[in-house]
Amino acid sequence: MQGYDQFKSVDIAVVGGGVMGAALAYWLRRMDPTVSVALIERDPTWTYASSALSAASIRQQFTTRVNIEISQQSLALLRSADWLCVDDDRPDFCLHEGGYLYLAGALGAPVLREANTIQRSMGADIALMPPEALRARFPWLNVNDLELGSLGLSGEGWFDGYRLLTALHTKARQLGAQAVRAEVVGMTRTGRRIDTLHLTDGASLSASMVVNAAGPWARAVGAMAGVDIPVDACRRTVFVMACPTPLPGFPLLIDTTGFWIRPEGAYYIGGIVPADDAPNLPLEPDLDSFEAEFWPALAHRVPAFESLRVVRAWAGYYEMNTFDHNGIVGPHTEMDNLYLMNGFSGHGMQQAPAVGRALAERLLYGEFRSLDLRPLAYDRIEAGRALRELAIIG
Ligand SMILES: Cc1cc2nc3c(=O)[nH]c(=O)nc-3n(C[C@H](O)[C@H](O)[C@H](O)COP(=O)(O)OP(=O)(O)OC[C@H]3O[C@@H](n4cnc5c(N)ncnc54)[C@H](O)[C@@H]3O)c2cc1C
Repeated sequence: MQGYDQFKSVDIAVVGGGVMGAALAYWLRRMDPTVSVALIERDPTWTYASSALSAASIRQQFTTRVNIEISQQSLALLRSADWLCVDDDRPDFCLHEGGYLYLAGALGAPVLREANTIQRSMGADIALMPPEALRARFPWLNVNDLELGSLGLSGEGWFDGYRLLTALHTKARQLGAQAVRAEVVGMTRTGRRIDTLHLTDGASLSASMVVNAAGPWARAVGAMAGVDIPVDACRRTVFVMACPTPLPGFPLLIDTTGFWIRPEGAYYIGGIVPADDAPNLPLEPDLDSFEAEFWPALAHRVPAFESLRVVRAWAGYYEMNTFDHNGIVGPHTEMDNLYLMNGFSGHGMQQAPAVGRALAERLLYGEFRSLDLRPLAYDRIEAGRALRELAIIG
């Protein structure tokens, strides 16, 4: 590996220091302390980064083997924070395995049944529940129009994503990753290689390998190298709500209408798929949608939510892969030294620990070892071969 020379030249430059870039930097240095890694982040406070605005929940209820496997590996890493200890400081991710509950009417029930077969074949602890069983377990739930529910009995829930992000940064730096506070504003490309990254302050950096970890801004970073990455920044509003009636055992609920809601401390957080999903909308919460769309659906499903009160709201971007709503991981086919970890479409927080490890293997050893991420390769986009994942939360 080549030496590190005052930010002029590194082995691996990671563009974007959200949870994905930080996880990669960590695993690279952990696997090979001789490899020089620059983690380039323009905003160390992550004001607009998805990782700081995430609902940070984790599930096994996907329908593709690769997404289930990623979550299972990430879960194992989240259950024990030992790998991110710095001296005596052991981060607490506050993982709460409260389960996801997917609900379906007549139309959606066959999909839940098909998904369950795949999930259980991979050891996921997911139970299908008819309406009577749902009513018995969740007496506050309106099951009248339901045919089936799918509940994660263990291995699903929510955690402190911001703590994961900061712990990854701290540990990556302790292991020797170089945190570079700058914006990448351009790239010089020769043939199939990126030679140089140009930074905001006029500095430049050359790297043997460049990784696009720019989250919702992945397309803009790809364009600097002259390649298209089908990722749009799609705004999602998260409402923080108070409900006066206690609803014990409330899981992360995914309704037939597509809304999601889960407990967060003394409150609930939740959101819906917006009617206007144009890319790059300003990051202001869409407050009007609460009364018009969200609240009626909430009150229908859980009558006690009739008396909900919105406490506050925020908005963040999903880094939406407009091709098939799954992550894009590995080399870009038109380039020899550009790698991608993009397009996780609303499930990247839970995927970062395992994806970071697997991509680090791909970069250092030329192959995935802990987890075969070839189904997420960019070549599927080039070939028009979508990865069919049915459990996407819009
Ligand atoms: C409202 C909401 C709810 C979500 N809920 C969940 C959930 O429940 N579970 C789950 O798993 N996932 C969830 N997600 C998705 C998850 O948060 C993201 O998939 C994940 O955070 C993506 O991480 P990232 O590092 O790729 O992107 P980001 O966190 O956005 O990081 C990208 C970074 O790149 C930097 N950057 C961009 N361009 C440049 C440049 N040119 N130069 C330097 N730096 C640059 C940015 O400043 C940013 O910090 C949610 C997302 C949102 C918005």
